[in-house]
Amino acid sequence: MKTTEKNKKDQSFPPIKTRFAPSPTGFVHIGNLRTAIYSFLIAKKYQGKFLVRLEDTDQKRIIAGAAERIFEVLDWIGITPDEGIVGIGDRGELIEKGERGPYIQSKRLKIYQQYAEKLIEKGWAYPCFCSEERLKKIKFAQQKKGEVPHYDKCCLKLSRQEAMERRERGEKYVIRMKVPEDEIIEFKDLVFGKIRVPSYTIDDQVLIKSDGFPTYHLAVVVDDHLMEITHVTRGEDWIPSTPKHVLLYRYFGWKTPQFIHFPNILGENRKKLSKRRGDISVADFQREGYLPEALVNFLVLLGWNPKTEQEIFSLQELIEKFDEKAIHKAGAVFDRKKLDWINSRYLKEKSPEEFLSLALPYLEKYVRQKKITVSPELLQRIAIIEQERIKKLSEVTENIDFYFQLPKYDACLLSWKEMNKEEIAHSLEKSLATIREISKENFQVDFLQKRLLEVADKNDRGQLLWPLRVALSGSKHSPSPFEIAWAIGKEET
Ligand code: GLU
Repeated sequence: MKTTEKNKKDQSFPPIKTRFAPSPTGFVHIGNLRTAIYSFLIAKKYQGKFLVRLEDTDQKRIIAGAAERIFEVLDWIGITPDEGIVGIGDRGELIEKGERGPYIQSKRLKIYQQYAEKLIEKGWAYPCFCSEERLKKIKFAQQKKGEVPHYDKCCLKLSRQEAMERRERGEKYVIRMKVPEDEIIEFKDLVFGKIRVPSYTIDDQVLIKSDGFPTYHLAVVVDDHLMEITHVTRGEDWIPSTPKHVLLYRYFGWKTPQFIHFPNILGENRKKLSKRRGDISVADFQREGYLPEALVNFLVLLGWNPKTEQEIFSLQELIEKFDEKAIHKAGAVFDRKKLDWINSRYLKEKSPEEFLSLALPYLEKYVRQKKITVSPELLQRIAIIEQERIKKLSEVTENIDFYFQLPKYDACLLSWKEMNKEEIAHSLEKSLATIREISKENFQVDFLQKRLLEVADKNDRGQLLWPLRVALSGSKHSPSPFEIAWAIGKEET
């Protein structure tokens, strides 16, 4: 990625590093993708570094292939991390780059365990031996009293000596963080402003589970610190976890990073987009034929407004113009029409060759499914016609049957403004005669248009063009008769 002129001159920025830290627990959804893009833009805007780390400590929720998919998507949209997991190798392995690795959390268990022990030594964490059964009981009792379930700090009362002995005896335990009972935890978020949370609402969070795996909270703080992350960038959903992290930074004696939480993406019903409602997986957008540059452009505008009329931005322009301080606090409504509009803009800008190579897989699949034989030339012509018309690539095969077979339609459709049968027949004969006279060499869109318009009634061109177009396409809406005629050729027309 090029350094921008503006940023090159301004050397006053402190070195910054952001990260994207996905968990391989399902498909990549557009919210994750926007988080990755925003984090990348913030780093690049200040000539900083963008790191990618895999947060796979919740082993039960891991889905095979999900990690690889995340990196495929980053590659698809043209984002290359500077550090961390930077891609997928030929054998499908994740490629790591950097001196602060490993960048896959499940390979860092010892590190988290060491840091948890440090907290125990300092008195900020403690082993907890409570059984599942006991925890369930206290949860039940608290719920009955209308309280929010929380750990009752029972094991905090154990002496260090006793706790140590029980651990040595091989008793099952977790490590919990000690949360002060009566304090206001405060932190500043760049988007959401000052956030204050009374500590009594925070549970003594488990940091290390009984299987030795850390929870997200410990792992994220340790890694963000060791990997020298200056700006913690993630979705709004993580705000409630942040007070715990703020406490951990304090317990370790580490500098707290800048927090930047991105607002949720909302559906048209103004409810948060959820996996259950579907339609939010990046794979679906790829399948439907949205271009990566269009999806990036659209997602960045979901939650950020450039405060100008400009709506189309390349990734390079976004690096220059994106301003994290101007991210809106309110959730951004996912507007499919806008995405379609942006996508069609990008599709129109493609050269005919580029467009053809993008559209061909859709057209070829269609031809295969219909079991028809079609000349490459016809497919090419269909692509040229459709480039101006479609909003996404999958639409290239919508309503194209008439190019390959005589359309079936209700003869009434031939009538333009209540023309009767004789008038329609007369109109079609006139078109036929005109078309017959055009040589094969001149059988081009422009020439067809010129000739047919010459013979049409100047005051009502529809009388000639409507029946001809319907005779060729069989439908109310289709490309112009000149385009269809050119695509299928003189004989067929
Ligand atoms: N692993 C978390 C996720 O998948 C990331 C949270 C964070 O960025 O701190 O959303």
